Amino acid sequence: MKNNSTSEALFEKAQAVIPGGVNSPVRAFKSVGLPPRFIQSGSGSKIRDVDGNEFIDFVGSWGPLILGHAHPEIVDALSDAMRKGTSFGAPTRQELEMAQTIADMVPSIEKVRLVNSGTEAAMSAIRLARGVTGREKILKFSGCYHGHSDGLLARAGSGAATLSVPDSQGVPRNVVQQTVVVPFNDLQAVRSEIEDNPNRLAAIIVEPVAGNMGVVPPNPGFLEGLRKLCTRDGALLIFDEVITGFRLAPGGAQEYYGVTPDITCLGKIIGGGLPVGAFGGSSDIMDHLAPVGGVYQAGTLSGNPLAVAAGLAMLKILKRDNPYPELEAKASRLTDGLKQILDEKKVVHTINRVGSMFSLFFHPGPITCYEEALGADRTEFSRFFASMLDNGVYLAPSAFEAWFVNVTHSDADIDATLDAVRGSI
Ligand code: PMP
Repeated sequence: MKNNSTSEALFEKAQAVIPGGVNSPVRAFKSVGLPPRFIQSGSGSKIRDVDGNEFIDFVGSWGPLILGHAHPEIVDALSDAMRKGTSFGAPTRQELEMAQTIADMVPSIEKVRLVNSGTEAAMSAIRLARGVTGREKILKFSGCYHGHSDGLLARAGSGAATLSVPDSQGVPRNVVQQTVVVPFNDLQAVRSEIEDNPNRLAAIIVEPVAGNMGVVPPNPGFLEGLRKLCTRDGALLIFDEVITGFRLAPGGAQEYYGVTPDITCLGKIIGGGLPVGAFGGSSDIMDHLAPVGGVYQAGTLSGNPLAVAAGLAMLKILKRDNPYPELEAKASRLTDGLKQILDEKKVVHTINRVGSMFSLFFHPGPITCYEEALGADRTEFSRFFASMLDNGVYLAPSAFEAWFVNVTHSDADIDATLDAVRGSI
């Protein structure tokens, strides 16, 4: 067993001044019944905790760190930017460059607005869709997570699912009454909703590859079907690409699957590890936003110079290096190895992978929606998680999250991870 005494002492103290000791619920490791590790530093594929234990990290700050921890070019961009001032609340040349870079990379985006988190991006995208269509209802999929704004916390995935609070207290009933929830990958359910309530939906919001019920890919034809149904009904299609944006391809899942949404939400990778989100779409749609149009949305720190510097450096590296084939190769080597070990040991499991994101479910599969993901063995996952941690591999502490492979995961890291799996199973 590793020595965790400093983490444990800090966690004890943190619980006196921070609810649950953490600033975001899943960090508390509550669902796996362990105290969380307090992290001191990260470099490349590894993180080190306050007790000096080192871990191969597959959380990557929950997705943003596709280039690993403390990438030198991002650190340099940040130190250059911070010397020039940390915030102005006024336009900068760098924001323009950031917007141009995003519009250049993401197929559906002509104009984009920067915000400070994925939550803000999805919340603002919904308001924009309502403003554009003059309609109020939205449709989401159970187990998809789009941040913690009121109307989107209905059958929500991620920490809300992990902690069994998919429908949060404190959300007014009349707000969630505007949210229709159907199972992921169930096109027929979407069709029925629209037939029962024609011309009522402002938007359908979807994670094009679900990442918050564990990784669940779209069935062939699902995204295309949503596109057709939205176009026919006059609802807007919102792709929440907070996870998939710049991860599956330079242009995200919409490039990977060749389906074009009306509005795209971005976050995580776009900030290079700093707090950023964004939402964008065609000029026609985006010009409904103030100060041009009547949909209000704002932010004191939006387009913050440090966040923009880190994000721009990240996007430039992704464009320059095209790491996607390498990420695919690393992730498939890891999941092939994982499958081989689990098959040899006769452990019932399903691995869902798209590009560099994947999940391991202790379930015979297939897992195509949240309702099926809920059937996976969570006790077995918790034991696996604890053992992997003890063997030096840091995974998301939930069966409803993804493993994220990044460019700094070396062959040696993957071999060491597979050794840890062998030891844990
Ligand atoms: N959308 C998706 C698909 C996400 O995965 C997340 C966060 N995990 C969010 C939105 C919310 O982003 P944030 O935590 O930055 O508010």
